[in-house]
Amino acid sequence: VLADKLRPEHIRGFAQHMAAKYDVVFVTNGTKDLKDQLRKAILKVNPQVDIDAYFARWAFTLGNLIWTPFSIEDPKELPVWPYYWQFITIAHEVHHRVQFKEHGGAPFAWDYLSNEESRGQYEYEAYRTALELYPVLMNGESLDPVLLSQSLVHYGCSPATIDFVASQLTQAKKIIQAGGTITGTSQEAVVWLADHVF
Ligand SMILES: [Zn+2]
Repeated sequence: VLADKLRPEHIRGFAQHMAAKYDVVFVTNGTKDLKDQLRKAILKVNPQVDIDAYFARWAFTLGNLIWTPFSIEDPKELPVWPYYWQFITIAHEVHHRVQFKEHGGAPFAWDYLSNEESRGQYEYEAYRTALELYPVLMNGESLDPVLLSQSLVHYGCSPATIDFVASQLTQAKKIIQAGGTITGTSQEAVVWLADHVF
């Protein structure tokens, strides 16, 4: 399967490609003021969280800033972060950048951070990229939408919102399996894969 062919240079190359195309910055420990901006945003949606443990485990996007708990500069495969999941996560986070631009910047950021139902809706769209890309990387296999939506508990979503996202993703999965149109972010990722990984 394509997922087994992913190498560190693919993760780095894909991240660089998406950063240039969508005008995003992958934040590292070396850019402290940028990481502080993300820290404030994470604490807004997760007031009780252990912030260092959060940075070690979860990805987060605010405006043009993307945090990933795996290195883009020196990619390594980790038990909870196989390369295919790093690849999918990069597409997911970049999709939040697309939303930020589509929904007018600051209003989107406010809506995403302050309203957990809205956040669920935006996350549904972003998780859709995972439903779209996983079969491409895994030779047609598909992800479980219910399992996928469970991560939203770490993004401050209520059980009701998570249920709603799971049902929307279940619908989306049928459309994707029937060959329906895919998001622009996934399209960009699929074209990049075809050009670079074989
Ligand atoms: Zn997200």
